[in-house]
Amino acid sequence: MYFKTYLIDITKLAATTDDESFECGYDLPKLPYSFEALEPVIDATTMRVHHGKHHKKYVEKMNEVLTEKNKKKSLIELLMDPSKIAKKNQDQFLNNAGGHFNHSYFWITMSPEMNQKPSGKLAEDIDKQFGSFDKFKQEFIDAGVKHFGSGWVWLCVNDGKLKVQSFLNQSNPYIEKCGHPLAGCDIWEHAYYLKYQNNREKYITNWFKVINWNFISKRYEGLL
Ligand code: MN
Repeated sequence: MYFKTYLIDITKLAATTDDESFECGYDLPKLPYSFEALEPVIDATTMRVHHGKHHKKYVEKMNEVLTEKNKKKSLIELLMDPSKIAKKNQDQFLNNAGGHFNHSYFWITMSPEMNQKPSGKLAEDIDKQFGSFDKFKQEFIDAGVKHFGSGWVWLCVNDGKLKVQSFLNQSNPYIEKCGHPLAGCDIWEHAYYLKYQNNREKYITNWFKVINWNFISKRYEGLL
């Protein structure tokens, strides 16, 4: 059910960013803005460590268990069907390739152009399905606050239905086969602890200011 659409996604991810060096391949992508660009919402030190140490490590550990033949496939295809990878390596693959996808997606779905709002069909569907943008936002924040331990909160879409869901560790909507990710917030402590310490609620609330809704709204229309 996903095959055709998720292959198209890869192209869209690469084609709709301003930085042409971004590709959701098997390497560490460059950030599409400077480390300081998301201040004061996300501080430069957190960005530097998060991208240069954490994300880099996921890429290295993912590549340890990938053959050249595997890399000819799209990353999303492997996330949804890791059976092409030796059984003993599948956990290492899913944890780290999940991490690589999630962070690559996270960087391009944040923007220094702050306080964006969803537009077009996405704005309409959020209003229709959640009641209002503010109700959706509250549900997203609540899901992040209630989530126990490390993980991610996602807004995803499956067959036209929008849903807020959180997953443990580096899992994501492709690995869980529950639709396409739209917005995803990293709620591992490494994403916010330097600036927000234990205040995850404040971090997620502020994170809403840097969501790249322009990108996500366009991507949503492409997925329909
Ligand atoms: Mn992270």
